[in-house]
Amino acid sequence: MDLQKVVVFGAGTMGNGIAHVFAQKGFNVCLIDVKQEFLDRAIAAITKNLDRQLKKELITEDDKQKTLDRISTGTEISGGEDAFLFVEAVPENLELKLEIFTKIDGIADPGAILASNTSSISITELAACTNRPDKVIGMHFMNPVPVMKLIEVIRGFETSDLIFQNIMEICEKLGKTPVEVNDYPGFISNRVLLPMINEAIYCLMEGVASAEAVDTVMKLGMNHPMGPLALADFIGLDVCLNILNVLHE
Ligand code: NAD
Repeated sequence: MDLQKVVVFGAGTMGNGIAHVFAQKGFNVCLIDVKQEFLDRAIAAITKNLDRQLKKELITEDDKQKTLDRISTGTEISGGEDAFLFVEAVPENLELKLEIFTKIDGIADPGAILASNTSSISITELAACTNRPDKVIGMHFMNPVPVMKLIEVIRGFETSDLIFQNIMEICEKLGKTPVEVNDYPGFISNRVLLPMINEAIYCLMEGVASAEAVDTVMKLGMNHPMGPLALADFIGLDVCLNILNVLHE
């Protein structure tokens, strides 16, 4: 098993950010998606985000180049089989995630860790389709990944203490702050955030106040950096609805 190698499944919003931070901290990353054009788009996004860090003098030109050199892309996993860690960041769809976890479990080293970036799907349920439920865990990164400090680390019902400790250390190596959370719907972040966003939407719908007024109250009154309605737009209303449905169910 190669302890410097990480495979990231899904090169979208979250996957490209996850590949970025792992590569920046010295890991070799294989980034996988279904089409080469999605991978090209991900590399373009990573390059743009590295340029932003360069402009702010957070990294040097050499750091940028080395980060990019550590990322390889492919539509197949070939070459990544010996990775010690697989991070899944495909769309929030249970069937798709189960398919990916079954596939990874079949090819990965028996000692490898399988992590999901899911926002709301049960880690225990994903773990149950593998032959290594003790090595399955949630790594819930926040968007945008290179900027946001938090990672919710979700322990499934059978996640072992050893794997949990390994992942906590890896999060720290990435320069992030990991927080331990048990496997409940919405974990902490979305369980607390989404009902607040939903109430803000109800305030608007019931005519309590304008959108601007709702956001201003929460910004100036509660010291939130952004109002809940602006945040909902930023997350995407479809994503918000999806998570609220999971909480409702
Ligand atoms: P996205 O749609 O931007 O990216 C998903 C990528 O996965 C796409 O590029 C898609 O082509 C690819 N994909 C689809 N099927 C695949 C397969 N079989 N193999 C490999 N790649 C495949 O989605 P996203 O916003 O990056 O979300 C990914 C996950 O992260 C979801 O579970 C989501 O709930 C979670 N998440 C999202 C956010 C956010 O703010 N967007 C925050 C935290 C967690």
